Amino acid sequence: SAEAIDRIVIIGGGISGLSSAFYLQREAERQGRKLHLTIVEEAPVLGGKINTLQRDGFVIEKGPDSFLARKHAIIDLAKELGLENELTATNPAAKKTYILHKRKLHAMPPGLVLGIPTEIGPFMKTSLLSLGGKLRAVMDLFMPAKPASGDESLGGFLERRVGTQVMRRIAEPLLAGIYAGDLKKLSLKATFPQFGDSERKHGSLIKGMMHNRKATIAAAKGKAQGTTFLTFKGGLSTLVRALDGALSGVERRLGVKATELAKSGSGYTVTLADGETLEADRIVVTAPAFAAAKLLEPLVECMELSDIRYVSVANVVMAFDKKTFGLDFDGSGFVVPRSEGLHITACTWTSSKWLHTSPDDKVLLRCYVGHSEDQESVKLPDDQLVAAVRQDIRETMGITAEPIFAEITRLNHSMPQYPVGHVEKMQSLRSRLKMELPGVWVTGAAFDGVGLPDCIRQGKEAAAELYSASN
Ligand code: FAD
Repeated sequence: SAEAIDRIVIIGGGISGLSSAFYLQREAERQGRKLHLTIVEEAPVLGGKINTLQRDGFVIEKGPDSFLARKHAIIDLAKELGLENELTATNPAAKKTYILHKRKLHAMPPGLVLGIPTEIGPFMKTSLLSLGGKLRAVMDLFMPAKPASGDESLGGFLERRVGTQVMRRIAEPLLAGIYAGDLKKLSLKATFPQFGDSERKHGSLIKGMMHNRKATIAAAKGKAQGTTFLTFKGGLSTLVRALDGALSGVERRLGVKATELAKSGSGYTVTLADGETLEADRIVVTAPAFAAAKLLEPLVECMELSDIRYVSVANVVMAFDKKTFGLDFDGSGFVVPRSEGLHITACTWTSSKWLHTSPDDKVLLRCYVGHSEDQESVKLPDDQLVAAVRQDIRETMGITAEPIFAEITRLNHSMPQYPVGHVEKMQSLRSRLKMELPGVWVTGAAFDGVGLPDCIRQGKEAAAELYSASN
């Protein structure tokens, strides 16, 4: 009846849980329903992986640092929260990105989109690849498309279309920032479905990406937004704080883990680590797949969740005095192929890429450590980790200056690796849940995109799903 109150518990207070709450609240209002919402978050604060540190005039991101401007879910949310004027774009003078090859920084050829060439002229001139590697890549223009079949690995696909050199020297280091993964094990369909679509629709990856790029440029015409990445001037925690404020009517259980789900009448009970139990008609689980699996396993088969591997990564942010740094940046940073054998996988020239992050007389660098084949570096003790990173920036950029400070962040089991067949597996998990645990919805970065905009879109979908399921 219209008087009934929907009791919904959200497990996890990261961006997926917060946006689920925001859109559930919105949907309840729209439908004129009474909603009692509770967020349970193991950590003492909301935000999950989003974690901005303000220190000595610097804005330091310990987790994600920006988002793709073309994925509108996050911009829509920012507008709804009145944060439009807080958005900021990358420094237009720092567009250049470099790739390390044989210990030298090579400018990325213009026209590369996600590692795929869309301008053949500049691509043929790059010093990153051998002539054979380039010719192999452009063979993609003439090779027939593989007959449509199921999923395949991202690495296998790239190797098949544009060859091993482009895959290892360009695509892997560029895409590693998103998954820290082994491209040969990641699902093509779950990570870059547009690659597979390009082959099917255009018979060629390069032609398809050229087509997409033209469409993107045409769509951006007239809009001031000629930028790829955006963030908030005060850091990404701005978004978390605004969501927190917009959810003032929502109950929170912070610093306490949900340890058990059980059926109870037509609904569920959620037991917390401190012994409290919450009654719920519906539940949204946004915890990482391994944590979600722990909660669901006693009630339903969910191998698909426990099968998702998570990679650990770390990052080391270092601040320097510009006077003694010894290098002027003309770009946004560089990425490092695995074959270089360094500890770092990428280095963002943060103070150059994002002008709001640093005082004018300072330099801020962010170095990334750890990937699917290197989980050891992440575990190095602090002093050794900083020493390893400093050795890498000495070898690659010649930087020997002493940092003013170094901020280390380790993110254990933080990067989900969508396995081949992921999309179908998640569909079958969801239909099993629908049958066996109606009203329980599982979502978040483990499902349909790890980027912040993807997580927000999934939060919105969770709200729509829970309210449509109840009709
Ligand atoms: P989380 O943020 O992990 O939130 C899940 C929450 O659930 C956590 O707070 C956890 O404490 C809680 N939890 C778990 N188990 C329980 C339990 N049993 N009971 C209660 N609570 C529980 N994306 C971008 O778009 N741009 C970037 O620049 C970017 N950079 C990244 C850099 C790094 C180092 C990492 C790791 C990720 C990056 N990402 C980036 C991806 C993005 O940050 C994440 O995918 C996203 O923040 C995940 O949000 P979430 O809410 O799904 O999960």
